[in-house]
Amino acid sequence: MNLLDMVREAGIVGAGGAGFPTHVKLISKAEYILLNGAECEPLLRVDQQLMELFPDEIIKGFEAAGKFVGANKALIGIKGKHKKVVSILRDRIKALGLEDFVKVRELPDVYPAGDEQVLVYELTGRVVPETGIPIQVGCVVLNSETALNIYYASINKSVTQKYITIAGDIPKRLTVKVPVGTPIIDVLRLSGIENFDNYAVIDGGPMMGPIMSNLDGYVTKKNKGFIILKKDHHLVKKKSVTSEQARRVNKSSCEQCRMCTDMCPRYLLGHEMQPHKMMNALNYSLDDVEAQKIAQLCCQCNLCELFSCQANLHPKFANMYFKDKLAEQNIRYKPKKSEFKVRKSREYRLLLTKHLIARLGLYNFDKPAPMTEVEMKPELVYISTTQHVGVPAIPIVSIGDHVEIGQQIGKIPEGSLGANIHTSISGNIVQIEKDFIVIRRG
Ligand code: SF4
Ligand code: SF4
Repeated sequence: MNLLDMVREAGIVGAGGAGFPTHVKLISKAEYILLNGAECEPLLRVDQQLMELFPDEIIKGFEAAGKFVGANKALIGIKGKHKKVVSILRDRIKALGLEDFVKVRELPDVYPAGDEQVLVYELTGRVVPETGIPIQVGCVVLNSETALNIYYASINKSVTQKYITIAGDIPKRLTVKVPVGTPIIDVLRLSGIENFDNYAVIDGGPMMGPIMSNLDGYVTKKNKGFIILKKDHHLVKKKSVTSEQARRVNKSSCEQCRMCTDMCPRYLLGHEMQPHKMMNALNYSLDDVEAQKIAQLCCQCNLCELFSCQANLHPKFANMYFKDKLAEQNIRYKPKKSEFKVRKSREYRLLLTKHLIARLGLYNFDKPAPMTEVEMKPELVYISTTQHVGVPAIPIVSIGDHVEIGQQIGKIPEGSLGANIHTSISGNIVQIEKDFIVIRRG
């Protein structure tokens, strides 16, 4: 079996949150392979600790993937502020004899340094075209945890565990490894909070993660962190605004100051994304479809909405409004050129993370969340068949079957985009539905 087959078999998906099947990325030939260790969402602490604790495994997984796609440069992107981890990585690359191929590059402590297109620019100086993906400029990008999983795939271990940071306004901040399919509420209780009536939970980082409507779900390969805040926290209130409320507020007071555009990371990369224009189009019900199409260039980083707009409006909402409307009509933005140059103002407009954290009201919670061994032994695990980009995995087990930890229980449908799924505990299959498979420990 070659590396691509091993990665497909192991069910690896992008661990950075998007869940794109990794084997598909490895099909391409690329000049660069890039490791995304930026972890730019405030409070999340997974990647930086994995690189510290498992440098050899991550470097080896990354190197193997780089060789497989034919890359001649393998660059690890990590924020320069993580001095200790940077030094560990450099030492281990040397000790493994890989310094001619794998290099560490220090990133500035800005948001969103981990946006794939921002990372590609910071590490290679190349700009991914509008609506494009990194391979168009010769790059394949992998998250650090994904590289770790590639190493495990190379020794025949499938993805059955997930690293998650639990942070926020809680007694105990920590990062843990838990079985995929564990009830989320059990993970949240590791924070030292038992009753969540007065709390809201953000699924992911505070910038891009949504507020969870309920806590009844189960851990998937895409989870990266849970941010727990009191319900009256400013960020929770801002994120809880309904579409109708956002629309009403937006109509009242946009001054067209353009700050949302001037700080937009995609605009600064030279793309046409200009949220102030979407605000104008929304507020004056402008019906120029051609002008609305730029809404499709938004990466939903939320910087305009949670930082740039001093009037506390919702420019990202305006983008999403047009993005969804155009998608319904199957109308697509077409770039007018194929090469892009970053705007001259970019270097002055980068948003320092410390300013973002202060603005979000998270300063008091910006503390370590150390990797902690916990014994999570869920009686039942719910393994989602849809925890990746693409079509659901097809169950290959039946009710009553006994399965061993790591055993494959769902496969990618023939000729489709998707990922295999595996059981994270040994036990018996007790339920099979379209969206999930349940295993009872035993
Ligand atoms: S949405 Fe806010 S930042 Fe953007 S133009 Fe209007 S007032 Fe300015
Ligand atoms: S969310 Fe706002 S800042 Fe981010 S890419 Fe979209 S328009 Fe730009």
